[in-house]
Amino acid sequence: MKAYGWVAALLVGTALASCSQDIGAADGPASGVDTARIAAADKTPQDWLTYGGNYEEQRHSRLTAIGPDNVSDLGLVWSHDLQTSHGVEATPIVVDGMMYVTGAWSIVYALDARTGEQKWIYDPSVPRETLAKGCCDAVNRGVAVYRGKVYVGTYDGRLVALDAGTGKMLWSKVTVDQSKPYTITGAPRAFKDKIIIGNGGAELGVRGYVTAYDAATGDEEWRFYFTPNPDKKPDGAASDDALARLGNATWGDTGAWTTDGGGGTAWDSMIFDEINDQVIVGTGNASPWNAKVRDPQGNGDNLFLSSVVALDADTGSYKWHFQETPRDMLDYTATQTLILADLPLGDAGARRRVVMHAPKNGFFYVLDARSGAFLSGKAFANQTWASGLDAKGRPIENPAMRQFDRTPFLAIPAPAGAHNWNPMAYSPKTGLAYIPAQDMAQMVGERPGGTKASLRWNLGYDMAAGLPPTYSAGTLEQIRKTISGKLIAWDPVRQKARWTRAYPTPFNGGVLTTATNLLFQGDAMGTFRALDAANGTELWSMNLKSGIQAAPITYEIDGEQYVAIATGWGTSWALNWGFAWDKATAPDVGRVFVFKLGARARVPDPMAYLVEETPKGSRFGSPTQIAAGFRHYSENCMVCHGPMAISSGVTPDLRWSGVSADRNVWDQVVRTGILSGNGMVPFKDQLSPDEAEDIRAYVLDQAWLAVENGDAKPPKS
Ligand code: CA
Repeated sequence: MKAYGWVAALLVGTALASCSQDIGAADGPASGVDTARIAAADKTPQDWLTYGGNYEEQRHSRLTAIGPDNVSDLGLVWSHDLQTSHGVEATPIVVDGMMYVTGAWSIVYALDARTGEQKWIYDPSVPRETLAKGCCDAVNRGVAVYRGKVYVGTYDGRLVALDAGTGKMLWSKVTVDQSKPYTITGAPRAFKDKIIIGNGGAELGVRGYVTAYDAATGDEEWRFYFTPNPDKKPDGAASDDALARLGNATWGDTGAWTTDGGGGTAWDSMIFDEINDQVIVGTGNASPWNAKVRDPQGNGDNLFLSSVVALDADTGSYKWHFQETPRDMLDYTATQTLILADLPLGDAGARRRVVMHAPKNGFFYVLDARSGAFLSGKAFANQTWASGLDAKGRPIENPAMRQFDRTPFLAIPAPAGAHNWNPMAYSPKTGLAYIPAQDMAQMVGERPGGTKASLRWNLGYDMAAGLPPTYSAGTLEQIRKTISGKLIAWDPVRQKARWTRAYPTPFNGGVLTTATNLLFQGDAMGTFRALDAANGTELWSMNLKSGIQAAPITYEIDGEQYVAIATGWGTSWALNWGFAWDKATAPDVGRVFVFKLGARARVPDPMAYLVEETPKGSRFGSPTQIAAGFRHYSENCMVCHGPMAISSGVTPDLRWSGVSADRNVWDQVVRTGILSGNGMVPFKDQLSPDEAEDIRAYVLDQAWLAVENGDAKPPKS
């Protein structure tokens, strides 16, 4: 609940910060950042110019002042509160002594990179009722900086250009149909005087695409759709030719895709390959997930879902594609970190420019960057959905995956992925890619009674499959044992792990490596550490008192090297999986932390977890009503409020909410939407009054079960 208190504080902060700096726009901060400077980013490692550090997005720094021999002396210089308990996923950009970083709700902070002093803040005032349009919280992964401007994609689908010196808005473009459940959480990328941005929303029903805008004016330059127009007619877009030649025939003419857009949303990785003058984009999962509902007529691959697609940088026209998960059924997005590198793959060690990719489906791919040809691929995680890849890189599927309507299927990787958005890195020094990976499984079954079109989350699956309707003592401990994380140091030439480090939780942070063979990574339990990139030996660590999901960066000012990381839980970890862990051990605190050698500032304490974990209402309802409530909860409430009604803390835990205690207040919140301003939109089209009451019976039953199990305290009488 504490998030809501911050909104008022933030509005005051915005007003105070609006009077700004001494820096003119013409030669102001970041005015010298253009395509040539980003292309030469490795020669100016004092800056961190773009989301992945360089156009290859390797997240490898050439700075050498901090190394294995002195990293033990690393300490905190400053930290800055991002004023949110929503998730934080941003990679900061640092240029000309300024740091540009985003918190939740697409809010941009400009900080003095040396001192942490706030120079300006830009709040795009995203309407809070848009929260339910996204799958995974009002997060943002960062900005692009180009020719004196800072660009941010907003959660409600705008691309906004700001003056890098003052934070003043220069232009703003709506990039999506805002009547549909589109969101933007990804960082824009800048190249050749263009800004490219995609979108998300495939869980709720949209058609994915990327758009390139003129960096100076915001005029649209080109757009590429990754699924066909519902009538398969041209859009007048850069994708027309590729869809007519390749895409349209891979879809039937009927099914939910024609109303739900089919998915294929490009919500994260989109990289500029300057050598081949192309943009390489990772596309998302299907909408809806269930292919039998999505495309009942056809049996095609559904291009360009779950694919890596290369587009001409100037025109957006199709160059090549490689589909990693044909006819996706399991939310296996291919949006994860794309990295370009020259690998010694040829005869006598001749180098070849490749794209490396470790998407959700658990295979590590090496593709030729110029042609998209499949060069090699191997599983980096456990699999039940496929037994391997054939010579062309196509998965050899387990047929049981597509027969889940007869027998529920245990999907490994889970739809959350063997690797999600948490950025992977590649070190040219060690020749290894570093994957923040995870082992999770999820039961997939058909929804009893078919799929209702009015579901907000329209997956075409039984969302309750595999979850216990009630839980006994020890259930949470059991769940913790079945999911875990790993940092995998992967040799992309030999296609095998060199070393791995195990974590008790999935969803650990992104990775940074340096020329001194250091590797920095935070974990979901709040420890930020430096490892030896060659063998994984831990060299330094600090508890930052908040779970970490984002990737660190490093930069240099006046000869002094700094390391920075943004903390906060973020996404599916916070919403769907973190529920089984103790919020007091690893809370979700949005902050930026900056370190250097010899510094000794103290890590601030997070605010205490304020909610009293005790039922506020009485248990009621027959076993039948509670069971019905479990089903309705799992379909309508679970993805935000947590499986088994156990929240990880980003959204309110309904078991301890006063709202749950009162039938009328509950109905007003759940069905009428009196808390829409907080993001709790009305569910009157999805739930009848009786169904809402069934959910309340289930939630209170779960609350009292927690008391019985010793996980919560009984109310004081
Ligand atoms: Ca998805």
